[in-house]
Amino acid sequence: MKSDANSVKKKLVTLIRGDGIGPEVVQSARRVIEATGAPIEWDEQDAGAKVFKRGLPSGVPPETIESIQRTRVVLKGPLETPVGYGEKSANVTLRKLFETYGNIRPVREMPGIATPYSGRGVDLVVVRENIEDLYAGIEYMETPGVAEGLKLISRKGCEKIVRLAFEFARAEGRRRVHCATKSNIMKLTEGMLKRTFEEIAKSYPDIESSHIIIDNCAHQLVKKPEQFDVIVTTNMNGDIISDLSSALIGGLGFAPSANIGNQVAIFEAVHGSAPKYAGKNVINPTAVILTSVMMLRHLGEFDAASAIENAVLVTLEDGKSRTGDVVGYEKGASTTDYTNTLISNLGRKSTRWRVRDYKPIQLPQVPGRPDLVVPFERKAVGLDVFLESSENPDTLGPSLEKLVADMPLKLKLISNRGTKVYPAMGAITDCVDLYRCRFLPRTGDGNVTDEQVFSLVQRVAAHHRWANIIKLLEIDGKPGFTKDQGED
Ligand code: NAP
Repeated sequence: MKSDANSVKKKLVTLIRGDGIGPEVVQSARRVIEATGAPIEWDEQDAGAKVFKRGLPSGVPPETIESIQRTRVVLKGPLETPVGYGEKSANVTLRKLFETYGNIRPVREMPGIATPYSGRGVDLVVVRENIEDLYAGIEYMETPGVAEGLKLISRKGCEKIVRLAFEFARAEGRRRVHCATKSNIMKLTEGMLKRTFEEIAKSYPDIESSHIIIDNCAHQLVKKPEQFDVIVTTNMNGDIISDLSSALIGGLGFAPSANIGNQVAIFEAVHGSAPKYAGKNVINPTAVILTSVMMLRHLGEFDAASAIENAVLVTLEDGKSRTGDVVGYEKGASTTDYTNTLISNLGRKSTRWRVRDYKPIQLPQVPGRPDLVVPFERKAVGLDVFLESSENPDTLGPSLEKLVADMPLKLKLISNRGTKVYPAMGAITDCVDLYRCRFLPRTGDGNVTDEQVFSLVQRVAAHHRWANIIKLLEIDGKPGFTKDQGED
């Protein structure tokens, strides 16, 4: 299997050993890759705890960024964010810096790893959007007692992740893609993923597609996980269901992952730095080894990838060398011994456990321009003004009506955390001090001008503390905003 190293052009990969157990598991993966003879050359770089401690608040030094810009492929161990050395996670920084928009987490039953699901053939992939949603981390204190986080979902982000999911299904010969969303409640944000999925699914007639509500998806994953093949979902939902899915097959020791972008891909296990096991040579390196299998396929090294995957399956099936997380730490094989056994099994294949036939993936080509959706027509049909107020709605409402009585915009309603509280409709609402006040044109459904907006805000601000304003848009005849609970 070994190729002549001198005759093949080596593929350069940035290697980040990481923190805690990182150096041990990454070393295992490196040894296994090198044992296949795959033409990989490593460019070792730092990130994480050491870097934070040197005083760099991002945890990612410029040399590491330059290396990734050159190599475009990273194999990394887990990075910790030491308390007191910086707020942002170096992992998230890396994923965002290089627009790795797709987090791919395969979950497959492993031979000899007993779980309540053993024998049911769990073999699924969660494709999680990796940049947008609540993870954009745009948060505000709207009032001293009310915090807000923006759930940002773009059509471009949806197109990229949906296409990636379908392309991934094709590359792995998978037959079904589920899109899991909460579009029944969040019609514009989660709904955007559903609508994009339904549109794009038509270009993949060879793959079965269906939508599932995310809470039912979680329920079905526990009840009948074998029904799933590929699940595409938004960032927050994906975070939760991918961890849930890892637990179905024996936990973090067996959960690989890839962060895929069109320019850069970062490969890392799902697990963290597990500091209590650091330096003890007892941890399970399988997750990072399976992660490097994904990396090798990304690099087009299909034979080496399959050799490693087969060796993992054979090693676990033989069951002679198993790490402490599987058999108990007092009798488990050391990380090094397990890795040695795995290397000695390169070239063997299980008769029962198959490795899929993989094809190169076609990464989705979505136009790079920011304005992916250009409407024919848009107009501002109203204005929401968020006010901080300790008054109750029955006092606030009439006071606002009086204030704007001579203006082109009139108060339609006031809501509190999405429920209409003025005019009163008999709901029992325990109000907080952030009110959303919706203003619409007094006559007709005309276009609201900026001048009207500014003079209304100026008038209201003279009497109330305003927190935030937002224009209500109608885009190609469709409302670009949601109604409150109780709004007609
Ligand atoms: P963790 O490091 O993933 O460890 C939690 C537990 O999972 C461990 O105590 C161990 O369980 C088990 N585990 C983890 N890796 C394992 C492996 N390879 N083999 C077998 N079992 C394994 O999570 P954490 O303790 O919450 O986080 C520690 C640090 O890692 C934090 O600083 C966190 O920010 C960071 N982190 C980094 C990444 C990343 O770099 N992508 C991801 C997650 C967390 P038992 O105790 O039951 O044996």
